[in-house]
Parts: sequence; C-alpha cells; structure tokens
Amino acid sequence: MPMSLEFKERLSTVVQDALAAFGTPFHIYDETGIIQTCQALNKAFTPIDGFKEYFAVKGLPNPTVMALLKAQGFGFDCASVPEIVLARKVGSNAEEIMFTSNNTTREQLKTAMDQGGCIINLDDITLIAKLPAIPDLLCFRYNPGATRQGNAIIGKPEEAKYGLTRDQIFSAYGQALDLGVKRFGLHTMMASNELNYQYMIDTADMLLELAEDVSQALDIRFEFINIGGGLGIPYKPDDRAFNLEGMAGGIIEAFEAFKAKNGWIPRLYMESARFITGPHGALVTSVINHKNTYRDYVGVDASMSALMRPGVYGAYHHIHIHGKPESAPLKTVDVVGALCENNDKFAIQRQLPETREGDILIIHDTGAHGHAMGFNYNGQLRPKELLLKTDGSIELIRRAETMDDYFATLDFKPQTITPGHP
Ligand SMILES: *Cc1c(COP(=O)(O)O)cnc(C)c1O
Repeated sequence: MPMSLEFKERLSTVVQDALAAFGTPFHIYDETGIIQTCQALNKAFTPIDGFKEYFAVKGLPNPTVMALLKAQGFGFDCASVPEIVLARKVGSNAEEIMFTSNNTTREQLKTAMDQGGCIINLDDITLIAKLPAIPDLLCFRYNPGATRQGNAIIGKPEEAKYGLTRDQIFSAYGQALDLGVKRFGLHTMMASNELNYQYMIDTADMLLELAEDVSQALDIRFEFINIGGGLGIPYKPDDRAFNLEGMAGGIIEAFEAFKAKNGWIPRLYMESARFITGPHGALVTSVINHKNTYRDYVGVDASMSALMRPGVYGAYHHIHIHGKPESAPLKTVDVVGALCENNDKFAIQRQLPETREGDILIIHDTGAHGHAMGFNYNGQLRPKELLLKTDGSIELIRRAETMDDYFATLDFKPQTITPGHP
C-alpha cells in the first residue's frame, strides 16, 4: 500500500493552500510520518546496545529534513564530499558521519578526514595506501560475491563494483592493524528496495560470522557492523509493508547468539534512505494538457527533472487525483512530462479517473531518490521542496531552480590553450 492514508488525508486538506502559495510542481514531505518511522526504527532495535541509523544522504539531501533526522538520533551516510558538507552543516560530528564512497581519490579522502573528520569506510584494499593519515577507526565494505544471491535491483554481488572480497577483508584489517588503526567497523550494502526482511537478517548473520572469523584470525574486536540500507517500501497497491519487527527480531536473536558465543558484541549500524523518507513524500503536479493520438496522454507540469525513477528503472509510482473519488470512471492513459525523451513518463498505460486541465495529480512515494535524482537534461529545471510540519504549517525548504541556476556554469573566465605551445 503506497502513501499512508494519514499522509494522504493531511495532504488533501492543505494541498489547495500549498498550491495557491507556492504553485506546482513541488515535492512535499510529511514531517509527522518521517518522525514516526524514525521512532519505529529506533524502538525496534532498542534491545541492541548502540544501535544507530546513518541516513543515506543521497536519498533526500535537504538540510531541513536532515536536521529533523538528526534530532531523532540519526547519523548520516555520505558518498561524496558535498554530502559530508551537508551532514556537517546540520551539526553532525565525526562519529555521526560515515563516508561510504567508491572509486575514491586521495583528495576526497583528505577532505573527508580534515575539518573534523568522519568514519572512513573503504571500498577497496588499495585505498589504504591513499589515506592521508592513519585514522583511529577504520571500516571496510565487504562484497560476499557468489556466496550470496543479489536482489532484483542491485543484482548479483559478484557483478557489483562495490566492496572487498573475503580474502581481501582479512588482509585489509591485517594491514590496518599493522598501521596502527585501533578501532574497527565492518560494512556491507547488498540490497535495494527489498521487501523480504529475511534478506536483511541473512546479511546481519553474514557480517557477524565474518566479524567473528576476522576477530579470531587477527585478535581484534569490531566496534560495529553496518548492514547497509535497502529496506523496501510498498510502491504498488498490492505490496505489503516491510516487516520491521520481523527483521529486528531476527537480528536481535543473532546478536544475542553472538554475545553468548564470543562474550562481546559489536554495535549495529544501518543506513537506509528509502525506508525512512520514501513513503513520506509526494510530487504534486498540475494537469496542463490532454493529447489523444495512438494513446491517450495526460500532460503534467512536472517532468523527469523532478522524478527519474519511472524513466530510469521503469519504477511504479502510484498516482491519485486530488479530490476525485476512487469510484470515478477510469481511463487508460500515459502521464507525461515535457522532455523530448520518450522515457519522460510518470505512468504508462495506467488506469486513472478522467482528468481536466488544472486537476492536481499526487504522485506517491517520492520522499527518497526523488528530487535528489533529478537532472537538467533538455533545460528542465528542478522543482521546489516543501515540508508539511507537525503543527500543520508548510515551509518552503528548497526553492525551484531558475534559469540563472541553469546558466551558472556558463559564467566563467575564458580560457583557451594551444596544445604543444606551453
Ligand atoms: C543508496 C545507498 C543506501 C540507501 O539505499 P536505500 O535503498 O535508500 O535504503 C545506503 N548505503 C549506500 C552505500 C548506498 O549507496
């Protein structure tokens, strides 16, 4: 079931006012729903000492939302230097920021470790030599290869570019130990939009086993394991909700068994984005055209620049029309944006109530990997972001892009070189 009925209800009562004040298109995020999910996650894992969620910034890199998440005790998983800058901007300290990059440069590692630092999570054994200094705490990303099945979106681990092999994991921690690293973490990220919670339990089991093997081989202990993100959300009306309690129960059991056997226990870190904010965002867009050719098209004022998932992955995002009863007569349509790119469709051959120009379409589940993925191809500008707060007010938390933003990279000092003439 996409978008909660509560959010649908809250949005429905304010959408006309939001429209009047801000105009479409916009993404709107539901503070109430986000906080509820944060609290549910923290509650589910309270039996594990030192549980911490590091929200994957790439899902929703908006400082206002990030500040909200931080207030719920979350840290941030960052894949780039600008994401680290955002995490620092909302007041996160070094231990609250995890730098999970791949194909990383020396310069990026240096910037990450300077200015307060963060937890460095290396994606490859060769990166140890590229660290500007030896950190106190170091983490590596494990790729289990053929020993684990991948999930539908990420694919097979052995074909994924991320992480170290099992053999490399042992030598990497050995090298780190020799170099003077004192604290250790172990990370993996295997799934994307996975609704089967057993997969996440298997991932925790896998990391605990590896942590045990490495700690015995090298006589070290792990301060934490990070099982990554990838918890799914129900995008389709028939999808079941992710069973958070089921997952937590299995993982808590695995941690208790580990403690009974080893006498110590690592902390548990996770780094979801989609599960935390995905269902709590919607893209609100107005119908501007109808076109009837070989198919019937509903043209809206948002395009792929606002939401790429349908175009890139063929992803399903549920749509309802504001104020139209579910019982209205249905029509099969494609819902399209304005790009000269035939992928620019929010829905393909979808049954929707008949619309008129000016009707408001609510596209569900855009709270993660929505606005953030938008691009400027075809001169399409990215829309604004709003926050529907717990007190019922609506705050603009990012303005829409302007033409000046689009042209900003054309403002530079002219420079021409003639090769061969230094
Ligand atoms: C994208 C990403 C995440 C978050 O993925 P979700 O599917 O949104 O939970 C977490 N960790 C890393 C390393 C990622 O690249």
